[in-house]
Amino acid sequence: MKYEVVIGCEVHVQLQTRSKAFCRCPNTFGGEPNSRVCPVCMGLPGSLPVTNSAMIEAAILAGLALDCDIAGVTKFDRKHYVYPDLPKGYQISQFDMPICTGGHIDIPASDGSLRRVRIIRVHMEEDAGKNIHPDDGRSVSYLDYNRCGTPLLEIVSEPDLRAPQEASAYVQAIREILRAVGVSDCNMEEGSLRCDANINLWVYEDGKKYATPIAEIKNMNSFRSIRNALEYEVKRQVREWEQSRLLLEVAGKTTRGYLEAKGITVLQRAKEEASDYRYFPEPDLKPISISREMIDALKARVGALPAERRRRYIGEYGITEQDALNLTSSAAMADFFEAAAAGHPEPKRISNFILAEVKKYLNQRSIGVDELAVDARAFRRLIDLVDAGKISGKIAKEVFVDMADTGKDALAIIEEKGLIQIDNSDAIAQAVDEVIVENPDSAADYKNGKEKAIGFLMGQVMKKTKGKANPAMAIQLLRAKLK
Ligand SMILES: [Zn+2]
Repeated sequence: MKYEVVIGCEVHVQLQTRSKAFCRCPNTFGGEPNSRVCPVCMGLPGSLPVTNSAMIEAAILAGLALDCDIAGVTKFDRKHYVYPDLPKGYQISQFDMPICTGGHIDIPASDGSLRRVRIIRVHMEEDAGKNIHPDDGRSVSYLDYNRCGTPLLEIVSEPDLRAPQEASAYVQAIREILRAVGVSDCNMEEGSLRCDANINLWVYEDGKKYATPIAEIKNMNSFRSIRNALEYEVKRQVREWEQSRLLLEVAGKTTRGYLEAKGITVLQRAKEEASDYRYFPEPDLKPISISREMIDALKARVGALPAERRRRYIGEYGITEQDALNLTSSAAMADFFEAAAAGHPEPKRISNFILAEVKKYLNQRSIGVDELAVDARAFRRLIDLVDAGKISGKIAKEVFVDMADTGKDALAIIEEKGLIQIDNSDAIAQAVDEVIVENPDSAADYKNGKEKAIGFLMGQVMKKTKGKANPAMAIQLLRAKLK
């Protein structure tokens, strides 16, 4: 291989705390411009920031979920730069003592193996406001400061990614993990998860290794645009290398923006100098010490992460990879499944019912499993009724919908509606006799060796008994009578 693609990511994630990072303004998305601001997040003279402890907790939770080391002491620093969306003229961030360091995420590599992506650091900072440029031809810009002071995590990876597809998988894995621990909704469309990527090539020629200039790619707003932007960039850098042999040592780093509509990246800033942000410790905020007890308490809340759960479902429960992925699509769904399947000899059956019937119900009503009127224990009682032969699997589907609609218990519904399975052999025998008389052709077919005909006859017996016949008994009686 002549070219090796080298990618590192900087991911910014908005934390879902009730209030902003250093003031009591509500931390929500959108709204009337400049309606959620106060002297602190506007940086007015004399105002004093106070650290939101929920932000610290969320940062530790995220760090634990990413296998990071949590600092015993951490502090905030001022990062200075001038931009209209930053009314204070500096951003409260973390410079030399980030809250989390180390850590890693394992993702599927492009060659099918496992890729370990090392995380350098995770630090807390506040978000800036937004510039709004109306597209009606007027040369004015508006400023919305609602987002100022929103708590952010910045997650910086080593350049361990080796393909555009891996960068996309990495960001998806971060989203999944942070959603699972409940610290962010990681909604890329609303900007609560944003990703910049540093990309260059290692070129192997004449027994030597060369590095091409690094491009930092911005404005990638979806997993697809991460993939597309970086794929474009690989081609562009190969072309540039072949034409100019430009080296990293000479050209340094440039910033490029991705234009989604055109599918290309364009130069924004050439040969970026190491910016002088004049970092210094934030004088209005004391360093924070984080106790071992606090970390241990938060560890308990991290719980099982999706990848870990999937391994268990596939390895111990014999569930397919696709089903395991679906069951872990949300922490609530995985919790529901695990609680319902606890101690059941065939967890796969429970999984099948959830992924077919429960998912269908949730999708039709656009609700989450945590909004379902049936909790995992009530759901398990329904499965137990099937296992005990009280109702058939088919009836169970109807009963489930009733349970979810009314919140009633399974047993109450089947008693109320007279759905209890007929395992009285006389009643089933009568239905079997009638079906044989009414379908002489099929009965003859079966007798002549057409095994398939029994399926049709069974269907008729179930129809006649409104689905209530015990299927095992019914088929046994059918075979006996058709001997
Ligand atoms: Zn505020």
